[in-house]
Amino acid sequence: MPKAKETVLEINLSALKQNFKYLKSKLQPSTKFMAVVKAFAYGSDAIEIAKYLETLGIDYFSVAYTSEGVALRKAGITTPILVLHPQAVNLKQLIAYCLEPSLYQFNILNEFISILDKEHKTNYPVHIKLNTGLNRIGFSKNDCGELLKTLQNTKAIHLKGIFSHLAASEDINEIEFTKTQIKTFTNVAHMLSQQLQHKPLLHLCNTSGLLNYPEAHFNMVRSGIGLYGFGNSEIQNKNLKPIATLKSVISQIHYIQKGDTVGYNRAYKSNSPQKIATIPIGHADGITRQLGNGKGFVYINQKKAVIIGNVCMDMIMVNITEISCKEGDEVIIFDTTHTIENLANPINTISYEILASISQRVKRIFYRDK
Ligand SMILES: *Cc1c(COP(=O)(O)O)cnc(C)c1O
Repeated sequence: MPKAKETVLEINLSALKQNFKYLKSKLQPSTKFMAVVKAFAYGSDAIEIAKYLETLGIDYFSVAYTSEGVALRKAGITTPILVLHPQAVNLKQLIAYCLEPSLYQFNILNEFISILDKEHKTNYPVHIKLNTGLNRIGFSKNDCGELLKTLQNTKAIHLKGIFSHLAASEDINEIEFTKTQIKTFTNVAHMLSQQLQHKPLLHLCNTSGLLNYPEAHFNMVRSGIGLYGFGNSEIQNKNLKPIATLKSVISQIHYIQKGDTVGYNRAYKSNSPQKIATIPIGHADGITRQLGNGKGFVYINQKKAVIIGNVCMDMIMVNITEISCKEGDEVIIFDTTHTIENLANPINTISYEILASISQRVKRIFYRDK
């Protein structure tokens, strides 16, 4: 790639393909793969990522909200799309764009059926979401009697899938809990599907579930973070390649004296003469203020430069006293060697949050390895 001349997020589609192949190699050939492309495909670009995954033969997509699915349809994506968390107010639009809803409680289930009835639609594909321990959204085991009655009394919907979500699939201290979730899901899903004339797609695993619980793949897996290059463990990270590199440039260099301060609230006070660089990326671009005041760092000419003072909306200042560099030089915020996890760990967050926070203001560039 040419050196950055402004703040850019470079997305390596070859790495995406490699991650997809690796994750797929862990599945039985008949197990379907749902790519989770919610939140702009974890801060990259849902449309570009989905288009590329379609060329690789992806089976399914999922997004969190209806508007995200609509954007994919408008861009020409024809693969089935599951909307993980639709709201009642969006259901008409969801139908208009042929999106498949996750139905997670009676209000939304009944509302959906009544809209379909009004539109004289039958056999509309839906997925039923079960709560097996995450306690976020989903029907509970005790809802199943009433749920079955509702399903058997309507022609409006076709139960295409039954799914649930694991709470701690990456955590080796929670293996027992995860196994209980798998068992609950197996029991409830089988009980429901036995009462139907067809076999719905059962799906439970996210990326860490896919990697750590091969016995729980069922008919489909839902992977997000793995596609983008993270496996939630040092061992798994070795098999995956981060697809995103965040780069910027040095806008200006200042020489400051002992006693000078840097940035808002004069949060950094220098106790010796120093050289500092200003970089055009700030909290409005996704560099959280928590990375300010010595917590976060960037790389300039392979050397680590610590963020000093408060992160501004559009800029950060870094200490380059020990680094030989000049205005216009490239700055690496993260790449495949200086990974997002190195930024995330000191501020007690995870790769997911840093990735998904990179704002739409940052220019995206897509490329493939030669
Ligand atoms: C976000 C999400 C996923 C993807 O999880 P990863 O850990 O990124 O693979 C899967 N299923 C549901 C319900 C989700 O909300």
